[in-house]
Amino acid sequence: MHKYNLCFLGGLKPLILPIMKSFNVPIHYRSPLVNAIKQSRKNADKMKNDFSPTILQLGTLQLILARHFGFCYGVENAIEIAFNAVQQNKDKRIFLLSEMIHNPGVNADLLALGIRFIMDTKGNMLLNWDDLNSDDIVIIPAFGTTVEIEDTLKSKGINPAIYETTCPFVEKVWNRAAKIGNEGYTIIIHGKPGHEETRATFSHSKENTATVIVKDMEQAQLLGKYIAKELPANQFYIDFKGQFSNGFDVTRDLVKIGVVNQTTMLASETQAISEYLKQTITNHYNNIDTNNELHFADMRDTLCYATHDNQTAVLNMLEKDADLALVIGGYNSSNTSHLVELCESKLPTYFIKNELCIIDSKTITHYNIHTHNELITENYLPPTPKLKIMITSGASCPDSLVEGIIIRLAQLTGNEEHLETIQII
Ligand code: SF4
Repeated sequence: MHKYNLCFLGGLKPLILPIMKSFNVPIHYRSPLVNAIKQSRKNADKMKNDFSPTILQLGTLQLILARHFGFCYGVENAIEIAFNAVQQNKDKRIFLLSEMIHNPGVNADLLALGIRFIMDTKGNMLLNWDDLNSDDIVIIPAFGTTVEIEDTLKSKGINPAIYETTCPFVEKVWNRAAKIGNEGYTIIIHGKPGHEETRATFSHSKENTATVIVKDMEQAQLLGKYIAKELPANQFYIDFKGQFSNGFDVTRDLVKIGVVNQTTMLASETQAISEYLKQTITNHYNNIDTNNELHFADMRDTLCYATHDNQTAVLNMLEKDADLALVIGGYNSSNTSHLVELCESKLPTYFIKNELCIIDSKTITHYNIHTHNELITENYLPPTPKLKIMITSGASCPDSLVEGIIIRLAQLTGNEEHLETIQII
């Protein structure tokens, strides 16, 4: 294991800190280097007001790290519960509803411990419900699950609450939807219709009120045409097939609306959609209510703190100059894909799952979020003697992967010896 004698320039003091753990997650997900960097930033900015990136100088290589990245509260909580479940139930069969978080390494570790998945990330069954019995342990993933699946588990004599890892920030969205739903508003969910969290939020919301999912601004604008009664009502059921609750009545249920969102969406998009729908509905009803509260439930977005922090940190990082950006995470991770979206608007960006994607100094394997396939790109490192590379990672990405990438880049650029004394400027 590397020892890091971090040298802080620009006013910060040299420091090596122990790994601070709020949760008991396996040590191989941690990184002494990344932990020391995060801890030093935290000590210097306890109120989290400073979103400027951390700049590491390794000889001729400059790495610009986002202020916030990596495991969030909900992911650490889920990992701790899942590994505890294995420890505490060695004589039992343990199942996960689907991927616990969107990170291939973590899911592979759980599979290696004997945990089996009941369904894939799209909700397709990998085994039959009849294969389960009341002696089995079922872990609910961090995204939460649907009311229907909770009921199915209960009918099998399995208590889904025992090893429930649903993130409290997801439950907060459910509570917000329930509150405004009970006030007579239809819930519009801005989220990816196939994503586990959005399916769970949809399921819980529809218990209280009519609910419809919009996946992006294009769909929000389409919904706006139904709000404004510019399209025939019947067409709605085709345009939003699979995205509205049973009994949804387009003439009755688009008069009072409130917007919640999947916790990991792009903040700017969710705000734009919410504002667009607010304007559309208040304009249509001629601003009958001066507070705009009669037809639109005004509230803040339901993005979680990790989404907010990671996206704000990336926006701050992008104010610097660099040759390229590396974004690390599972390819099906929603929050990570939005970090990619932000980075690629500014500079060449490579979405990679681990250091093995960096094949050598010429070739990189990476994921394209638009075409949904893995690509190989040659000459990804520009021929400049002083490289500047931005790095961030998603909320389900272990810090050890970020450390692996820092080491890989140092090796490939001939700066390995500088790993022992990294300068933070
Ligand atoms: S990304 Fe946010 S909502 Fe999702 S698990 Fe992490 S803290 Fe919870």
